[in-house]
Amino acid sequence: MGRGSDKTISRYLRREVAAHSSAQRARLTAASGGSVPRTQEELARVRSITLDDVEDPGSIMLRPPWPTGDGRRAVKARKELERRYKPVHWIVQSGVPLGSSVADLERLGRIGARWLKGSGVRSDDVVLSFLPAGPNLAYWQLVLGAREFGVSAFHVPPVPRFADAAKLLPTVVVGRPADLARLLTLDEDSDPRTDWRSRVRIVIAAGQPLDDGLRSRLQAVLTTKGAVVLWAWAAPGVRAMWWECRGGIDLHTWPDAEVVQIVDPLSGTEAPPGTDGEIVWTALGWFGSALVRLRTGVFGALDPAPCPACGDPGPRLLVNTGEPSFLRVLDRNPGVAAWQAELRVVDGYEELLVFLSPNPGVVLPQLLAVLDADLGATQYVVLDHKALDVRLAQHDDSRVVDLRP
Ligand SMILES: [Zn+2]
Repeated sequence: MGRGSDKTISRYLRREVAAHSSAQRARLTAASGGSVPRTQEELARVRSITLDDVEDPGSIMLRPPWPTGDGRRAVKARKELERRYKPVHWIVQSGVPLGSSVADLERLGRIGARWLKGSGVRSDDVVLSFLPAGPNLAYWQLVLGAREFGVSAFHVPPVPRFADAAKLLPTVVVGRPADLARLLTLDEDSDPRTDWRSRVRIVIAAGQPLDDGLRSRLQAVLTTKGAVVLWAWAAPGVRAMWWECRGGIDLHTWPDAEVVQIVDPLSGTEAPPGTDGEIVWTALGWFGSALVRLRTGVFGALDPAPCPACGDPGPRLLVNTGEPSFLRVLDRNPGVAAWQAELRVVDGYEELLVFLSPNPGVVLPQLLAVLDADLGATQYVVLDHKALDVRLAQHDDSRVVDLRP
């Protein structure tokens, strides 16, 4: 369970979200007999939505009543409301425009500065970023954060030429994971006395999932003592990227700016602490667009303990950007040659169907009993390898087919 205090959550939901968005008020009050949730527990009862469900971006905007009149007081009040609520800057996440007010942008700058500081960036560093400029969170969190933090930063289009990067003498390099590999792993200069890469202390892979293989390839390039590769990322819809500190232990969240909850994908109820499930996200203190109970489609577990590396009070997210980790039991079992899982809703209940092809010589009832101890699937369908291949091909080789509405 995310850590924002019940009081902060209750106040934000009541005074901001319910007060200034009729569509959100209807959702919030439907869950608890007409009143706005006062605790995280009550919030967990609010029906979750996905970004696909947001047909009208206006429905998630906060729109307070506008003071009318030309008097000095009315003008001043309007100005203050505009600063706080009027969306002046948009990013687009999974096709949905999310608005930020001036106050939101200032906040993202402060959050970005805390992120850079926690990553170990110093004010005498030189940041070279080639995150693509555009209506995306990673780019703006870095631009606004670097400005607020007060560090020199070059924001160039992806991917700079090796020689051009060398001229800037960066000590911090930020980009999308694959772009970073494209620049940093070039076999251009192997003399550490002249190679600009030997000055790089921090590489931040941002905006997209970073897998372990790519992380170690990037790490292998860095020759400075203590140089680190860190990851920053958030599920679409989330207003500030989660981040790794220099200790690199899981993704740190922003407890004063969000409520992160983990939901059991099968039952839809809140998962016990530490267990894996779907990440459901709620804005806290944001003013432009205010998403409540956003089902992110991303799976992970929440560690409520403070970070052992930097002491950040947490919680931290152990994100699984690929498939739900409860399905890893299928990978690990030597009796399973190939598999595909399907999540769907039947009569309001979530079902998990597992299609699998066993290895030769496997005793099927035993295999299914072992798997079922971990999976608790609704149904297992045993197929030969060929039939399973056909199924996989029908779904672009996805091993998890999510048919939930
Ligand atoms: Zn930490």
